[in-house]
Amino acid sequence: MHIVKTVEFKMDAYLRCRGTPALISISCAHCDKYLMVYQKDGPGPLLRCYLDRIHHPEPLENRQHDLFDKRHSPVLECSHCKAVIGVPMIYKKENRPAYRMRKGLFKIKRLYK
Ligand SMILES: [Zn+2]
Repeated sequence: MHIVKTVEFKMDAYLRCRGTPALISISCAHCDKYLMVYQKDGPGPLLRCYLDRIHHPEPLENRQHDLFDKRHSPVLECSHCKAVIGVPMIYKKENRPAYRMRKGLFKIKRLYK
């Protein structure tokens, strides 16, 4: 059963160096509200969410096209209980806008194997 519409993985140099991607659904640990569908490119815990790996919803996906500034860009928050789940950051090694995910404040569900 497909939970979300069929999506194409975002393919680029980052993906090739990290291996098989997985689509995950992220929700708020506090109130269980759906947050986003995210493409995770490598194994291990989710420490960062790169903006260019967000698949859904559209307003979040579109943030990758906005000017990104870690002090002024909007945080990643739960639309229901307003918990701040991720804070803007630039992953220096790749100069890539991301959210630093706050441990314990979100839940992950794998959508595809
Ligand atoms: Zn919440």
